[in-house]
Amino acid sequence: MTTDPEATESSEPAAEVSPAERIAALQAADTEIDQLVHRRERLPERESLATASAAMKAWEAKRASMRNRLDELTGVIEKAESEAAELRQHKERLEAQMKTVIAPREAEALMHEMSTLDEQRDAVETVELEALEEQAALDDDLTVHLGLEAAHRDTMSRADEVLAGVVAEIDAEIAAITVRRDAARAELSDGLLARYDRVRTASGVAVATLSGHRCEGCHLDLSAAEIDDVKDEAAANGGIADCPQCGRMLVV
Ligand SMILES: [Zn+2]
Repeated sequence: MTTDPEATESSEPAAEVSPAERIAALQAADTEIDQLVHRRERLPERESLATASAAMKAWEAKRASMRNRLDELTGVIEKAESEAAELRQHKERLEAQMKTVIAPREAEALMHEMSTLDEQRDAVETVELEALEEQAALDDDLTVHLGLEAAHRDTMSRADEVLAGVVAEIDAEIAAITVRRDAARAELSDGLLARYDRVRTASGVAVATLSGHRCEGCHLDLSAAEIDDVKDEAAANGGIADCPQCGRMLVV
């Protein structure tokens, strides 16, 4: 067993942490959380799931439209069959009538009527045949289409799982940082916290560093006089001043 050189650190007196360092640590934790929340909302895995789910919807829509068409065709076939039966019966009646007819003109009229019925029956049977052919082809297509369902569901549930996994990882990171964030807040005075929360609500990021003459929050250069004021203010307030340009808490 080796001795951890850092293990003795806790027994030594804690180094003085300035309010500026604490507020900067709080901002760092909040910024990390904000970035993770942003990342969680814009994961490429969401795109993959959306794509898979759109493909699934399209598959379902196609299945519905194929089934609708099959229902329509069943209707067309049934209608054609009943029309053909009616036409057949009608012709049978005329054939019976024909046997009793003597007058040639009447026979001629009946012949004409029977040939019209034959033509109508041909037309009806053509419609039925076409519908039967379409039905057979569509039945085959539907069988193939139904065979794709499992793959679609699989792709979708895998995309869903992958997304859930990534989201869970991010949530765990957020939870860990939240512990650190809450600890940082517990160390700050109510006054500083209220100021921090107010500026953060207004500007998104409450704390900025002064780098040279520039506020890293608003990226504006402060005048020499403003720099002097900011330094005086920071010296009197634990290293924290207000940016005269954007109002963020400047860590000097
Ligand atoms: Zn600023």
